[in-house]
Amino acid sequence: MCIADPTPDPLFTQQTITRRMGKFTLHSRPYTLVLRHVFTIASGSRSTTPVVLVRLDYDGVSGYGEASMPPYLGESHESVMAFLSKVDLRDFDDPFQTAAILAHIDGLSERDTAAKAALDIALHDLLGKLMGQPWHRIWGYDPTKAPHTSFTIGIDTAEVVRKKVAEAAPYQILKVKLGLDTDKMMIETIREVTDKPLCADINQGWKNRDAALDMAHWLAERGVVFLEQPMPKTQIDDNAWLTERSPIPTVADEAVQRLADVRRAWGAYSGINIKLMKCTGLREAHQMAELARALDMKVMLGCMTETSCAISAAAQLAPAVDWADLDGALLIDNDVFRGMEIAAGRVVPPNAPGIGVSVR
Ligand code: MG
Repeated sequence: MCIADPTPDPLFTQQTITRRMGKFTLHSRPYTLVLRHVFTIASGSRSTTPVVLVRLDYDGVSGYGEASMPPYLGESHESVMAFLSKVDLRDFDDPFQTAAILAHIDGLSERDTAAKAALDIALHDLLGKLMGQPWHRIWGYDPTKAPHTSFTIGIDTAEVVRKKVAEAAPYQILKVKLGLDTDKMMIETIREVTDKPLCADINQGWKNRDAALDMAHWLAERGVVFLEQPMPKTQIDDNAWLTERSPIPTVADEAVQRLADVRRAWGAYSGINIKLMKCTGLREAHQMAELARALDMKVMLGCMTETSCAISAAAQLAPAVDWADLDGALLIDNDVFRGMEIAAGRVVPPNAPGIGVSVR
């Protein structure tokens, strides 16, 4: 199979660090995503997100990856670039030594999950290109089975909320950020203008379980289909108590980062929210989805504000999940990749090898 040499790559000219490691070459550069709207959730507001873009070359073929670092992950341009400088792939002469390569990368530090995800995504893109197949096909998923993706509406004034609902016209399901004392206003404002199904992301904002259960009933009566991270992740018993009584499912987000957390969430939540930046990438995300299914839990696939690179990687897994929240690239003004598309509110993974992205 022949893939044109992509060497003159406009993405990796400025601020780029290039490292040759045996048969592999890694390019990486910091980049800053500009959000279309100031984005407010229960823990704060922001208008930009730092990311690091990577390209892993092997035998004339290139795979793209991305690390996205929202503040709560605790990673930054500096920490990701520092992590990448520690990676050494000279001991590996074949990218299909995937398990060993990713175990080596994971073993370099305790955390740095976004930095690890950038490499995992680039490696998967490279492997898919070497096999000539997109990952949703390698995994055996039917891309037409992807669920509708939600469009996120941050906590804001009634006027801005109405404007955002109008902007979300192509989407069949809206994700509403809750968890402050404006929850009822947010829902009532949205219900004045649309009857689309809603999901609610509380981002650990509810502290009292009785009040949380009252809100769960109030929201269910208004067409909310599930509650994401209703109470703080440390209040495990309260989340379990709520899950047992809530008329709608609960989904663990902040409480579930990696594969080992799925077992702990079982019994305390109805489902899990998988995000590549939390779980170190596609390999572990796929394992988490399979384990959650085996435990009869719901599976949601989420994202950070990311370019179409990381979103197209996540889109490969979308046909295997119940709910997708993959609007991250739609919330930014300076996407540098082309890849997955939204058609009639559904995420369509690109029909191209690897994660299926190209540089804009
Ligand atoms: Mg969430």
